[in-house]
This record gives sequence, C-alpha cells and structure tokens, in this order.
Amino acid sequence: MKKLLVALTSALLICTSTASAGELADTIKRDYDDYLADLWDHFHRNPELSLVEFKTAERMANELREAGFSVTEEVGGTGVVAMLENGSGPLVMMRADMDGLPVMEKSGLPNSSKAEQEDPITGNVVPVMHACGHDVHITSLVGTARQMAARKDEWSGTLMLVVQPAEERVLGARAMRDDNIWERFGQPDYALAFHVGAGRPAGKIDAPEGAAYAGADTVDIIVHGVGAHGASPHRGKDPILIASQIVVALQSLVSRELAPHAPGVVTVGSFHSGTKHNIISDRAHLQLTVRNTNDQTRKILLQGIERIAVNVGRMAGLPEDKLPEVIVSEESVPPTINDVQLARRLKIAWSEAMGDDALYEIPPEGMGAEDFPFFTVDPDITSVYWGIGGTPQADLDAEKAGGPAVASHHSPLFKIAPEPSVRAGVESTVVALLELMGD
Ligand SMILES: [Zn+2]
Ligand SMILES: [Zn+2]
Repeated sequence: MKKLLVALTSALLICTSTASAGELADTIKRDYDDYLADLWDHFHRNPELSLVEFKTAERMANELREAGFSVTEEVGGTGVVAMLENGSGPLVMMRADMDGLPVMEKSGLPNSSKAEQEDPITGNVVPVMHACGHDVHITSLVGTARQMAARKDEWSGTLMLVVQPAEERVLGARAMRDDNIWERFGQPDYALAFHVGAGRPAGKIDAPEGAAYAGADTVDIIVHGVGAHGASPHRGKDPILIASQIVVALQSLVSRELAPHAPGVVTVGSFHSGTKHNIISDRAHLQLTVRNTNDQTRKILLQGIERIAVNVGRMAGLPEDKLPEVIVSEESVPPTINDVQLARRLKIAWSEAMGDDALYEIPPEGMGAEDFPFFTVDPDITSVYWGIGGTPQADLDAEKAGGPAVASHHSPLFKIAPEPSVRAGVESTVVALLELMGD
C-alpha cells in the first residue's frame, strides 16, 4: 500500500510538472491568438529607422506600462526601460532591439510595410521595412512582460526590460549606457537577449557556448601617391598599384597568420582612387571591415593590417613621411560572448520546459556583429544571447530540394513566420527568467 502511494505521488508530481510546462505554452498560445498576433502585425506595418523609432518606442512604453511595469522613456534617445520589482532576488535584464531598415519590402506578406521615413543621417526619404525581424523581438518582449506580470507568485527579484534603439547602426546600446542606464535603474546580475533568424527552423532555439556574434572594427587605409601623367608613370608613385598590392597582401592575414580554427575576416569593402583615364592619382582610399571572436585575433588582424600597409608603401619606395596611413575607428564592437555555464544551464531549462527537440545546433557561418556587448562588457555582466529560428521547416526543405532560396536578413524578400517565432521568443525568455528568478 505504501509502495502504491509512493508510486501514485510520484506519478502525480510528474503530471504536475508536465502540466505546468504545457500550461505556459498554452497560455502563450492564447495570448498570441488574442493579442500578440495583432501587435506583431502593427509593428510589421509600421517600421521606423534607427534613431527615429518614436512611435515604436511610444507604443512599447504604453504596452509595458499596461502590463504593470514602471516605465521610463527617452533613455539614450528613443530607448525605453521597464522595471518590475518583485521582492528580493537577482536583477535580470532582457533586451529587445526595435529599429527597422531602409529597405523596400517585397516579401509578399499581406501586411507588408509601405512606410517611408526621412533618414536622420542622410536627410533622404526612404522606404522602411522590418527586414531583420526586430518586430518579432519587441512583440515577444511585450508577451514576456504580460507573462511575468501574471506570474509574480512564481518568481522574485527585479525584472528590467530594455527596448533598444539603433541596433542596426550599432549605436543604441552604447547610447543607453552613456545615458547611465545602470546608474539609474541598477546594474543587472544577468543580461539576456535573442535574435530571430531566417534560414533556421521556426521556433527552435540555438544558444552557442561561446561567441554568439563577432566583434567588428572599421579600418580606413589612406595611400598617398605622387600624381603624374598617365603616360609618364616613372614620374609618379601610383597609389592604385600600391593599394592593389595592399588588398592582395591583406588576404594572407586570415589564411597564414590566424590559426586554422580561429575565425576572422578582413574584407576590403571599398576602394576609391583617381579621376580620369590618363592621370596617375595622388591618393587611394580603402575601407575595411575586420571581424574577430576574441582579443587575440583582433590584435593579430589589426597589427597585421598596419604592418602590411606601411611596408607595401616602403616596398614601392614611398618616403617615410608619406607611408600609407591606417586609421582604426573608435567605433569598435566587442564580440558577443555567451557565458558557458549560463548557456548550459538555460539549455537544460529550455529542453525540460519545451522538450528536447526545442533546441538545435547549427555551426556558425558568418561573422555578423551585434551591439549587445556594450551592455555586457565593462563591467562584465553574465549574459546569454540566443537564436530563435524564423523559417518554416517546409521552406527549408523546399530550398534544400532546389526550390526557392530562403531570403536573408536585410533583403527586401526577408520574412519571418511570426507565430512560431513570437511564441518561442516569449516562452524561451519566460523559461530563462523563471530559471534565474524562480522560487
Ligand atoms: Zn540586422
Ligand atoms: Zn537584427
């Protein structure tokens, strides 16, 4: 009898825990149908450019206030900070970026954007589109706010929701730090964020144990030549030839100086020189993007660029005071590095709550950068940045079978399946928050 009771009790316990995991998913599904679907539709139709996300910020502030948070607007420009204090415990920050891009939407979605806006930097009126899925991020943040406010008896601590401007210009996170976000609202014990991803299975979670995004540097190389008639090259120093040799020599950095398993990129994205067929110019200008996943790689690449540029100048016989100038911009973005222990802990929590097949692993390919690390370095804050797939499996299968390619981020054809993405966005965030602040 006693044995039977024990068996019954443990069966009951198992039932309860499964039911509560399912309960969260069911509640989020209902909230998606009743509320979040329309909210995503609104954000998708009404994207705004980086730095001028005025209406988006206002709507987000109202949504978070209505959910029961104490909301401060205009933090670092259009940024919004929403706080929910709920007893003692850790301070956990969750960030969602909210900006759209100057792209004309051709996704074919029924709620395609027709928005236009004046670009605050160029002054041109341009079409605007949520071509990176940030509409999924902010919609999910509202869903998370609604869940966490309704579940205050399941956690204790302080929740900080951050609506960040201008991620696409890598300016917003720094602007919020410069506006003293930590000093005003408290420095988080943990910082979290996610990005929805086209080309990855909708609703599935991927959390790298290491670099989630690369660090990026912007480098300019100015090659000073000596101008001459195109028919008398011996009278000048041709900066186009020197700069071309620099471009070729730079290719040896990644192939010969980085360890084969150390990722890095040196891309010369722009090469400008000259005005006319028969004139040897006196200047060439190269613009580079340089990517790394750690300080050591960054150092090897930046020092190597300087060394190659200057010495190719010497090779061409330029005098010491006219050697190529290498200018590394101060606008450097550190890599987004996940805390390994926390990433493992959250992956266990996600697979327990959402099922083992909620997680997937995909080897990283590109070296995209994010400005999230401005929140997590100096001072260091334990953080995890995860990915949520946004493309239906059927579309991925069709692409594999030779069908239409899945459009990439920033493409006019970009599209995300909102329901699985937003639901997984909310559920993974709530599960992570309850893991960190749960009773
Ligand atoms: Zn983007
Ligand atoms: Zn993005």
